[in-house]
Amino acid sequence: MEAKIALAGNPNSGKTSLFNELTGARQHVGNYPGVTVEKKEGTCVYNGHKMHIVDLPGTYSLTAYSEEEVVARDFLVNEKPDVVIDIVDASNLERNLYLAVQFLEMGVSMCIALNMIDVAKNRGIEIDAEKLSILLGVPVVPTIARTGEGKKDLISAAAKMVQGGKRKGFLEISYGDDLDKAILEMEKEIRANDFLTDTYHARWIALKYLENDKQILLKGQESNPSLSARLEKMVEKVSLHLEKTLNTYPEAMIADQRYGYINSIIKQGVIQQEHGQSRLYMSDKIDKVVTNRFLGPIIMIAILMALYQFTFTYSEAPVGWFESFFGWLGDAASTHLPDGLLKSLVVSGVIDGVGGVLGFVPLIMFMFFGIALLEDSGYLARVAFMLDRVFRIFGLHGSSVMAYIVSGGIAGGCAVPGVMATRTLKSPRERLATLLTVPFMNCGAKLPVFALLIAAFFAENEAEIMLIITLIAWLGALFVAKFLRLTIIKGESSPFVMELPPYRLPTFKGLAIHTWERTWQYIKKAGTVILGISIILWAMMTFPGLPDSRFQEFENMRETVKVAAGTAVIQELEASGEDTEFSQEAQDLKSRLADINSVEAEEGLRNSVAGRMGIALESVSKWAGFDWRTNIALVGGFAAKEVVISALGTAYSLGEVDPEESESLSETLAQTPGWSPLVALSLIIFTIFYAPCFVTVVMIVKESGSWKWGIFSMVFNTALALVLAALVFQVGSAMGILGG
Ligand code: GDP
Ligand code: MG
Repeated sequence: MEAKIALAGNPNSGKTSLFNELTGARQHVGNYPGVTVEKKEGTCVYNGHKMHIVDLPGTYSLTAYSEEEVVARDFLVNEKPDVVIDIVDASNLERNLYLAVQFLEMGVSMCIALNMIDVAKNRGIEIDAEKLSILLGVPVVPTIARTGEGKKDLISAAAKMVQGGKRKGFLEISYGDDLDKAILEMEKEIRANDFLTDTYHARWIALKYLENDKQILLKGQESNPSLSARLEKMVEKVSLHLEKTLNTYPEAMIADQRYGYINSIIKQGVIQQEHGQSRLYMSDKIDKVVTNRFLGPIIMIAILMALYQFTFTYSEAPVGWFESFFGWLGDAASTHLPDGLLKSLVVSGVIDGVGGVLGFVPLIMFMFFGIALLEDSGYLARVAFMLDRVFRIFGLHGSSVMAYIVSGGIAGGCAVPGVMATRTLKSPRERLATLLTVPFMNCGAKLPVFALLIAAFFAENEAEIMLIITLIAWLGALFVAKFLRLTIIKGESSPFVMELPPYRLPTFKGLAIHTWERTWQYIKKAGTVILGISIILWAMMTFPGLPDSRFQEFENMRETVKVAAGTAVIQELEASGEDTEFSQEAQDLKSRLADINSVEAEEGLRNSVAGRMGIALESVSKWAGFDWRTNIALVGGFAAKEVVISALGTAYSLGEVDPEESESLSETLAQTPGWSPLVALSLIIFTIFYAPCFVTVVMIVKESGSWKWGIFSMVFNTALALVLAALVFQVGSAMGILGG
């Protein structure tokens, strides 16, 4: 076997010393072709195998900012060494690992010489090489280059890597929401056009464009000018966005996240003793308190509680205004449109349906603002870091936490990007367990459903109930994950590494933009998808309606009541204006007619397509306390969870007890017989756990690569939801609590 080995590392890390130790006298010095950078080559024989060793110029980074960096990088790309030995100065680990991480991102086979361990020891720094090796996924061999200590182990580790073949894949660090999205988009373009991909992999090219790497930009412009221009446009766009929202730029963000990644490795007990020269010194100090084993969780719960308290308290008034507005709009449409299908469509289908969803815009906005605050400041990453300890117990991974949070783990995310976020998980089993459980989180669509039920039945303790709902969602997700990892997706867990970016003071402008972006998405969805589904559901709740003969019977009843009351009273009713004082007779007639109308409306709804479906489901849903109207809403919720609200709005407005009294949906529910806090709780539990919405199911199928898992999530989740909701309702009823 003959192998080519490159020595790389920061300047002064001990490369030349190690090179001399390894090659002895068998070396020669020249220059790299075309440049004045010195090139040293030599050979070393190990177990009868000849190894060519090249001492690369010392660099801190692999971006084309200096000649040395270009030389080192080109050598890796053009000469394709079998192994790169990265010499890392153990006394300055954090900074030295910055280069190591970039090798891993490039996808080269690398092994680390943890050099200068004598110096480190003198400074009181003890490094757990084995742990570092596990976390980075590469061999780490402690050495002292000056004396040659450890060089045998090092060369044998390198030889083993050569025999093991090329390293597959490359390290993928998350660069934050905005950049990750841009990278994915750019990668797609790069792959579709085979842009430079014969030399580099797509993600790396995208990264270099974001880092504004002169060499790659030039190569790109030569090979495909129009695509390169497109990529540069994309970079420009995300740069502007970063500038506006976080007051930073891609290169800085990338460097921060790389250091964050290193920081989280080091924080996991790799360095035993105090290291005083951390770049993230201030952040470290904060982290001592915020991620402390005991204080951390308490602070976390307090912050969540404050978030919910803030959201519910300050959104109460504006939500009320929105509700009054839609109530007024519904009344206005009622009085000005002629009776008939059009009026029913506009009032019950569109205004009560979409209005119910839009009514929660202020609440959503406040919640998103709070989340943006936690995210932009860097706290959310700490939450993930802390929860990793818990997640391991359940067979998951620290990166799962981030997927949970994206899906709405704190409130108001979406399971679709959550499922995509599981791509950062390397172990396919942990990934599957994560993507099957992220739909349990409280996404932005479920939020108004909870808010409605909380407002109607738990108005006294809004924030507490929200916190409990959050905890139930997490516990449920974790236990299901554990169940899956013990049964159908058994297997080992992989070590955890996650980015811990430094804390940043969020800017108000950035927060405003992030809040508005998400709120606008919610509004847009309500105005398009939800509107469409609302209309379909309205149609399903309206047709076929009552048979003509039955309708005639109701007409006759109305006629009979009217005749009995006499013409004078009828005239009084018809002449009535906004605030007429009715006579006793007129009031009686009015309420009698309303009774007939509401019986007719309910019968019509029961006879509709959706009504029959809801009634058929009652035989099962009664165990959980849901009536047929709720069932209609829950079936609609499979299309999109917001629809639960809009469908309840339509169902209760179509069969409204007194159509003249316009009340908000939460008031209506609170007064409807059959509803109680216990039913609301059971419905909340069901909503947390039942089948993910349609788009999420499609995403699960796509990401897991099989229809099987999409179907599994629908069936399993709904069954689980039903069992849990029924349990709550039955136990609650038996104990007679919460009005059950
Ligand atoms: P290069 O710039 O990476 O080629 O680093 P050199 O090999 O020139 O080493 C820089 C300095 O560090 C020299 O004075 C070496 O003697 C010293 N050095 C290298 N490795 C070690 C080590 O493991 N322990 C100690 N104490 N000194 C070392
Ligand atoms: Mg040197």
